[in-house]
Amino acid sequence: MYCPNCGTNNSNDAHFCINCGHDLSRGTQEETKEYRMPENGYHTDSRPGDPNKNWASYLSIIMSVASLFISFTLIPAVVCAICSLVFGIIGLKSQYKGLSIASIVVSGVSIIVTVLLVVFVFNIFSSFATALTPSYYMW
Ligand SMILES: [Zn+2]
Repeated sequence: MYCPNCGTNNSNDAHFCINCGHDLSRGTQEETKEYRMPENGYHTDSRPGDPNKNWASYLSIIMSVASLFISFTLIPAVVCAICSLVFGIIGLKSQYKGLSIASIVVSGVSIIVTVLLVVFVFNIFSSFATALTPSYYMW
């Protein structure tokens, strides 16, 4: 039987635990169950998620931050951010769900920044075009 105090496996006829000296004759069946349940819970509840998908979370956060930094490159930045989004969604099933959510948010921000940059650049070009266009073209 298992000692309800320390979990050591003692022989069934033992009256005291060989490890901690707990009085085993006093321990009821329920006490033993109570000890073993948190042990099982520990194995299932510690770090929920698929460790095989952890790489996606790491890759996602790296790519989302990278896309933010290269947002001035426009198209590569958007491609990078979209890849990061995909990896982030895969990473939601990994052990690092929080990291994946963070990288999805960052890649979303990166896409918005890139779109704003495109609008900004487009405005500059169009104002240049307006300045260069003879005024009668406007009428
Ligand atoms: Zn014990």
